[in-house]
Amino acid sequence: MRNLLGKSLRSRLTILYGLLLTLALALYAGGTSVYFLHNLRQQLDLSLNRDIETVEGLLSLAPDGHLEIGSEEGEAREGDLGRGYLLEVWSGNGVLLYRSDELNGAAMGQPVHLNGNRWREAPHTVRLPNGMRVRVASRLHRIEGQPLVLRLGVSEEPLWQQFWEMVGVMSIGLPITVLLIGLTGYMVAGRALRPVDLMARHAAKISAERLDDRLTISNPDDELGHLGRAFNMTLGRLQESFDQLRRFTADASHELRTPLTAIRSVGEVALQKAGGVPYYRDIIGSMLEEVNRLTRLVESLLTISRADAGQIELHQTTVNALELVQEAATLLESLAEEKQQTVVVEGNPNLDVWADRLILRQAVINLLDNAVKYSPVGGSIHVDVSVDNHTVQIAFQDSGPGIPVEHRDKVFQRFYRVDEARTRAEGGTGLGLSIVKWAVSVNGGSIEFDSEPGQGCTFTMRLPLNKIQNATEKL
Ligand code: ADP
Repeated sequence: MRNLLGKSLRSRLTILYGLLLTLALALYAGGTSVYFLHNLRQQLDLSLNRDIETVEGLLSLAPDGHLEIGSEEGEAREGDLGRGYLLEVWSGNGVLLYRSDELNGAAMGQPVHLNGNRWREAPHTVRLPNGMRVRVASRLHRIEGQPLVLRLGVSEEPLWQQFWEMVGVMSIGLPITVLLIGLTGYMVAGRALRPVDLMARHAAKISAERLDDRLTISNPDDELGHLGRAFNMTLGRLQESFDQLRRFTADASHELRTPLTAIRSVGEVALQKAGGVPYYRDIIGSMLEEVNRLTRLVESLLTISRADAGQIELHQTTVNALELVQEAATLLESLAEEKQQTVVVEGNPNLDVWADRLILRQAVINLLDNAVKYSPVGGSIHVDVSVDNHTVQIAFQDSGPGIPVEHRDKVFQRFYRVDEARTRAEGGTGLGLSIVKWAVSVNGGSIEFDSEPGQGCTFTMRLPLNKIQNATEKL
């Protein structure tokens, strides 16, 4: 069907429009012609009825009972009927009293059989043997008490001639009208669709290297303008993701290079120097430290890229918030002990959340790890688990340097560090908080922090209270 209608939208629209128009005009022309014919016939019937009255006035009976038409001399004179009129007169008992010569003996209807005093015959059309169509009107007439039936006919041929003339005019006019309107429609469709063509050509030129290019929109308020705007917005989002991906790849390569360079230079120096076992132990120790850093980095990168690709499947279960935090704190106990820090975990032991345990545990570990990393030796870390309006809140408060206000919006971005030198020295990858943000949001929660410079900071994780627990609380 599509091939039949042509390839371009423009020709498809024009052809469909043309077909519909032809159909509508043909119906209209047909309807008008039939109405016209009906009207002409009605007029003919009216004049026949008038004329039949005239004929009635012309009829009389001769003293011998013979029928006379318009006669003073006792002879029928058909000329009185007027030209083109055909007449039949029947007696009440079905005897044909008169028939016009032009009828050549042909009847203008069934023989008459009067049944009582009423006679009714609707105006009708008969076709004579010579092919002529005749319109016939009938009437019951009485002369001196004797019933007679008059049938007066007149040729319908002039009427049909008018009808066919009208049909002829319409048959010529219809294709011309359709052609003219079709051509106009084709041009109008071309004009209307030109912006689409321009947009398509422009869009075809936009490549990954030219994602900052945008479509020119001549009329932003019409449908094509909306389409163009939507396309430009998609391009904007695409450009943002491309930029993010480029930044991520560049940052990741840079992060990977740092520990690799450190391992290589430590190794090169060790090779040049001759040293004893303690020396080599020391070298291997610092190399392993860099390898650990690399491993952490690669693991974080893997988590982020799998999360971005939507490859991480959530296995949500009921997780007790306080238990989860205690478990993570146990894992980091040795790190905190190294820095003689006190870690206190307390709060409501009965609060459950509906979450993927492993993912949420990673988020808690990252926050605790940061608290230990950035709090000074001898510092203290306090974690509190509470509930507020069906939301479980886990607050991680540390005694570190805090985070200055100007970095507030950026700390959750990938590879963002407040203090480059210090963070690297602490072995940070710059990915911890972005993983926290992702882990909390996939579990339906949020994360934010409060910080006073020099007073440490408090990261607060908010997660919806487990639905089952929510329901039991309501009971
Ligand atoms: P990193 O692995 O480098 O710690 P994060 O994404 O976890 O990366 O943190 C981003 C940055 O935010 C860190 O480099 C650090 O400067 C700052 N930061 C995070 N947590 C804390 C904290 N508890 N105290 C002070 N600064 C922090």
